[in-house]
Amino acid sequence: MSSVLAIDVGGTKAAVRAVTGGTATSGAAAERIVAERTVRWEDGTAAGDLRRLREAAAGLGAGRPDAVAVAFPGTLDAAGVVTRWPTRPSWRGIDLPGLLREWFGVRPLIGDDAAFAAYAETHARDVPTLFYLGLGTGVGGAYARRGDPPERVTPCEAGHVVVRPDAPERCDCGRHGCLQAYASGPRVLAEARWRRGRPVTPSELAAGLRAGHRWAHAALDPAVAALGLTVADLAELLAPAVVAIGGGLGAGVPALTDRVRAEAARRLRAGTPAPDVRPARFGARASLEGAVLAATRTLPVPATNPATNPATNPATDPATGPAADPAATGPTSTTRPASITEPAPTTERKQRHDGRQPARPAPLAVPR
Ligand SMILES: [Zn+2]
Repeated sequence: MSSVLAIDVGGTKAAVRAVTGGTATSGAAAERIVAERTVRWEDGTAAGDLRRLREAAAGLGAGRPDAVAVAFPGTLDAAGVVTRWPTRPSWRGIDLPGLLREWFGVRPLIGDDAAFAAYAETHARDVPTLFYLGLGTGVGGAYARRGDPPERVTPCEAGHVVVRPDAPERCDCGRHGCLQAYASGPRVLAEARWRRGRPVTPSELAAGLRAGHRWAHAALDPAVAALGLTVADLAELLAPAVVAIGGGLGAGVPALTDRVRAEAARRLRAGTPAPDVRPARFGARASLEGAVLAATRTLPVPATNPATNPATNPATDPATGPAADPAATGPTSTTRPASITEPAPTTERKQRHDGRQPARPAPLAVPR
């Protein structure tokens, strides 16, 4: 019986999920045991964060999983060492693959959190292309096509797309008018606090929107304007069929998605197809779901299941068949693939998708 461990590392917390039995997508539901835990960072030190993370994994009984995947928002060097994460600078210098291998005895798959989320969202929908926008402590983005394995999903620095260059609002990157300065979770809550006259929690904002309070709807105005413009620009640049909005803010505030869809339609040129703007299907768990799927792909092909084994059923081979669902059809090799934190041709693994050719595997981590 196989087991996978998925970790979604965030700016204020981490979510850990252990899946035992079958696989995340092809195993019979009755055979699967899923356990999940969320831990909040406490003292601001990397040592404290890592201790909490390890305790959470241990609490799930994830001693020696067969595969581990980690969704991470910071920047890694070619060896997987954290080089930059403005949200939690104390993580700089941590050898993430080495540490996780020491903990779990298996080489981890480490990918950009937005890329894993885009992978999961595309996997769950029958659409040719999808752009994921994750609204959390920062704003992440990634572009995926149907059938792309996770390492071909292209993350980007969507939060640092400038939407108002002359605006007074300064992003934490130092520039003015970045999307993140309007649409991050903390920024929207700050706007809500200003409108309401006292602190507002995410659940209070959601409740205020449901109740039709003016302050709550007004609190979304800057984010809606910035996101609507961004989605309109995405339609011109990449023409994604779907824009999925996730992260804590995207998942917890459905009214935001509705308004962004309308604002993007208003901004588009006449006749330009509008992306279908939707809440992320996996909500705030999209990155974690993608990590589970990515880890599952690295498991050896079950020899007793020829219907889903590409080695014995070429029609399901993602390389030659329709392969709408790479994770469901199993990995293409019986050997564990190299970690996507393996050395890449460039030292800083950053690249952008050209919208035409399949991008080189881009396991990047973008600074947010
Ligand atoms: Zn910025």
